[in-house]
Amino acid sequence: MRTELFIDGKWVKGSSTTPVYDPADGSVIAEVHLADDQLCEAAVTAAHNAQAEWAKTAPRFRAEILRNAFEIMVAETETIATLISKENGKAMPDARGEAAYAAEFFRWFSEETVRVEGDFRKSPSGDKRILVTHQPIGVSLLITPWNFPAGMATRKIGPAIAAGCTMILKPAGETPLTALHIVDILERAGLPKGVLNVVLPEKTGPQISKMLHDPRVKNLSFTGSTEVGKHLIKEAADQVIRCSMELGGNAPVVVLDDADISKAVSGIILAKMRNGGAACTSANRIFVQKGIAEEFIAAFTKAMDSFVMGRGTDEGVTLGAYVSVKERDKIAELVDEAVKNGAAVRTGGKKPEGVGAFYPATVMTVDKYNSILKHEIFGPVAPIVIFDTDEEGIALANDTDFGLISYVFSGELGRAIRTAEAMESGMVAINKGVISDPAAPFGGVKQSGLGREGGFDGIHEFLETKYIGFEL
Ligand code: NAD
Repeated sequence: MRTELFIDGKWVKGSSTTPVYDPADGSVIAEVHLADDQLCEAAVTAAHNAQAEWAKTAPRFRAEILRNAFEIMVAETETIATLISKENGKAMPDARGEAAYAAEFFRWFSEETVRVEGDFRKSPSGDKRILVTHQPIGVSLLITPWNFPAGMATRKIGPAIAAGCTMILKPAGETPLTALHIVDILERAGLPKGVLNVVLPEKTGPQISKMLHDPRVKNLSFTGSTEVGKHLIKEAADQVIRCSMELGGNAPVVVLDDADISKAVSGIILAKMRNGGAACTSANRIFVQKGIAEEFIAAFTKAMDSFVMGRGTDEGVTLGAYVSVKERDKIAELVDEAVKNGAAVRTGGKKPEGVGAFYPATVMTVDKYNSILKHEIFGPVAPIVIFDTDEEGIALANDTDFGLISYVFSGELGRAIRTAEAMESGMVAINKGVISDPAAPFGGVKQSGLGREGGFDGIHEFLETKYIGFEL
């Protein structure tokens, strides 16, 4: 297990260490190394020194490194999944799913590396030629959250390598071990020294701010909460650093009265419970049309009751621990508040006694004014609201500052697409609970973010467009 910092191609000791906990019982899994100001500075220097040579490498060279890393990740799926489950708490089926998803970003971007397009045209007036090319932005700072410790790292590292950018990765303090293992894989895959550096700052806020004020840093790619994202956009403004922001969600689900109820139940269970609900794409507000409401609620509650809660690595467990007791208690508070505001709990809704950051699968019916609808729950709690007309369902779904993903369930394609087009979100899933795919553009509108990761757009978050005009 890697626990040290990775700077300029070497594993180095930090200025101090901090524990990483197993959230299932609070025991310490490892002591990881932290970076003081000098070590953070050394990481920026290493990335800066490696940038010019790295940008000159052949796309095929970078593609092969990513492809090698993909192969190693696939071969080590079980090790990676166990590490994810240990430090994050999630159940092994979720952890295996994440390990596979994370590896796919390396495969996808190995293929994208050799397909960056340019453009060569005559200007409309005929006075010149227009040549458009793309160049790596340069040193990039990548900051990732705890909920997908592998997937959020490879979704940034993959396109950065493909584009020819060097980088500094700052994983979440709760879940750094998976990221360090991925770095170890990339080292074995042949990544040259200095291209990828990893630091865990001793004082996150001030030290990240310092890096964002270092003129050698050109690009920031952040995944995390909207609150921290807004703060970092302001920090990045001083140097007009390019920002890619994957922020919080408050995903609505609209179940129309012609939906296939069993398909809707299984889809929404996936959308709600993947990762124990700790996903930015998690179904956060479920709106069901009146005609099918009772039948849907009964079937959905039964499906939520079937989850087996326990230590993520134990056989048969489908709902693991939350990342920490502190984060779990936030979910319990949201549920208690919702109940005070009139929510009717159909199942779950009670914080378990004893050790471990556990919370049960919970279903509640609420009215459209309930406080819980304003919050990203980030846990296994499903508030359900009954609505009348399609227009009302759409208006309720869009009544949020967030716009990452929406879900629509309907038996008629035209109605489903009309509803999807009306959704104020960067992504819409029709009759499906999971649409995340490394080959598709992932990202949000409104306060859910800026830019897209994955798909054909992902590499462009690490490329500048350059126009060269000349006369022949
Ligand atoms: P967070 O914002 O608390 O932390 C994210 C990262 O930012 C961590 O590495 C953290 O250490 C770091 N950080 C915290 N304060 C910072 C500061 N002042 N300066 C610099 N870095 C700082 O988020 P979290 O609790 O780890 O993750 C949950 C959030 O992430 C949810 O809101 C979720 O919706 C969002 N998320 C979004 C996506 C997406 O793709 N849109 C994906 C996963 C998670």
